[in-house]
Amino acid sequence: MDQTLKKTSALPDGGRRPIRRPSRAEAEEAVRTLLAWAGDDPEREGLQDTPRRVAAADEEYFSGYGNDAVDVLSRTFEDVAGYDDMVMLRDIRVESHCEHHIAPFIGVAHIAYLPANRVVGLSKLARAVDIFAKRLQTQESLTAQVADAIEQALAPRGVAVLIEAEHQCMSTRGIHKPGVSTITTRFSGVFEQDSSYRDRFLQMVHAERRG
Ligand SMILES: [Zn+2]
Repeated sequence: MDQTLKKTSALPDGGRRPIRRPSRAEAEEAVRTLLAWAGDDPEREGLQDTPRRVAAADEEYFSGYGNDAVDVLSRTFEDVAGYDDMVMLRDIRVESHCEHHIAPFIGVAHIAYLPANRVVGLSKLARAVDIFAKRLQTQESLTAQVADAIEQALAPRGVAVLIEAEHQCMSTRGIHKPGVSTITTRFSGVFEQDSSYRDRFLQMVHAERRG
């Protein structure tokens, strides 16, 4: 496996400092340390397999580091039979972890773009959300990174991203306020310049769900 994390083009700073990736055994040892820190005995039967399970779960939670969203979004279609209106995906499930507490934040993303001449497969947009969500994040950066990747890959006339999520570091610890939605937005191009596009996007976000 790679000993360094790959440079990722859609990060705000254009990349990241290469770091040594610890071995699996070192990661499991770190989990054992946290179990003891919690006040439990890492050697008792119920906890013996926990470090292995936590490492495996982390591989899944943080699987976005090895993937490049711009790459995924660059597989575009050019022939859309003259379609040039807004393309919108609503209620894309977001499962991420805050970089401050490694606590989950869970919610939905709504994405729209106004194509210039290229459109992308719809599942690719959802995949781009996952690539950034499966890293340690703030909701603000996640929102900006999704929008910037679409911008970079499609060069559309505009991009709108709205994420609403509940942060478990606010609901199960700290201030203990469940049911609080954090909403973040990023608008570019026509969505930034023309409030009628922005309003239309927000109306579609809030339009009644069927079923
Ligand atoms: Zn947090």
